[in-house]
Amino acid sequence: MTCAACGRGETRLSTTTIVLENGPGSIIFRGVPANVCQSCGEEFVEDRVALELIKRTQAAAASGANQQTLDYAAG
Ligand SMILES: [Zn+2]
Repeated sequence: MTCAACGRGETRLSTTTIVLENGPGSIIFRGVPANVCQSCGEEFVEDRVALELIKRTQAAAASGANQQTLDYAAG
């Protein structure tokens, strides 16, 4: 699809690393599927993927872990 950020580039399905704030710490997700613009580098994550990340961040927060690195695919 055409990039919604720059309007010129084409996006391609790839994987990225996303960091979500979790109170005093942060959760780092690796291997997150995202459409990445080949021109400007903007990353577009699907809603269901974003929701999954939020869900897992909340689960990690509930377990008391402030700083974690998680593999999305391991999920
Ligand atoms: Zn772009």
